[in-house]
Amino acid sequence: MKDSPISSIILREREFFVKRDDLIDPYLAGNKYRKLYTLLHTPPEKYHTLISYGGTQSNAMLAIAALCKQKGWKFLYYTKELSQVQKQNKNGNFVISLELGMYHKELAQEEYRDFIASLRLHFDEKVFVLDQGGASMNAREGMEVLAKEIRESALDVDAIATPSGTGTTALYLAHALPEYTIYTTPCIGDTSYLQEQMLALAPIPENLMILENQKKYHFAKPYREFFEIYQELFQTGIEFDLLYAPGMWKALLEQTSQKILYIHSGGVSGNESMLERYRAKGFFKEM
Ligand SMILES: *Cc1c(COP(=O)(O)O)cnc(C)c1O
Repeated sequence: MKDSPISSIILREREFFVKRDDLIDPYLAGNKYRKLYTLLHTPPEKYHTLISYGGTQSNAMLAIAALCKQKGWKFLYYTKELSQVQKQNKNGNFVISLELGMYHKELAQEEYRDFIASLRLHFDEKVFVLDQGGASMNAREGMEVLAKEIRESALDVDAIATPSGTGTTALYLAHALPEYTIYTTPCIGDTSYLQEQMLALAPIPENLMILENQKKYHFAKPYREFFEIYQELFQTGIEFDLLYAPGMWKALLEQTSQKILYIHSGGVSGNESMLERYRAKGFFKEM
């Protein structure tokens, strides 16, 4: 694998650099590629099945489906029961993952939690269970590779930014790059929830700075200001995801002034369904 390229953009008269991890692969890209790096370099005969669970829009699900196809591993993915709307209106990532060979299993709301908690008890050592969103200590190695690429690019920046879901990416990147400030923003839940998830994996280093937006945003809901940032970014020539990136960019624009390298975490394949919801809300202005 060649290093992913770095672009430079001007946003509101500020220059930002963007690490183009979105360009690595159509499906196995962004921080999911980095998080799955160790599994990607695992001999195929080590496992026959990979199991994970979570939402039907998940970027991790899509990346794992692509990984398992490459490896010849069976991929079992558990979700809660799909709603009528979800059944009719299956989103891009979900359909692509099924096409890549994913087996989807629905669990009743009331059994979901206990079943997931006991997942590892049901299976032998040829089965790898990966927690929701790829939150795993396994992600460390891929972030070290990313850190090495950043270091070798010798860019003149003071800080690095990446938005958080589970916080796995920001946490291990901060460990791997102690000489930089790593900014992140919680996109699912608040700062204390993010810290809790990070602490389940490793201590939080001092160079990791969590920037919280003043307004509370709910994950995967359409917001006018998010769409405006998405459009502004689009005009610089790079499409970003609509779930995580807008909140991070908003926090960077409002709360920082340094030279920043933004890690593009991919996820653009999930935009199709979000754009539909933006259209339905009437926020959509033709670009
Ligand atoms: C998964 C994902 C994130 C969150 O990554 P974590 O390691 O779970 O914090 C951020 N941005 C995009 C585009 C993602 O797909």
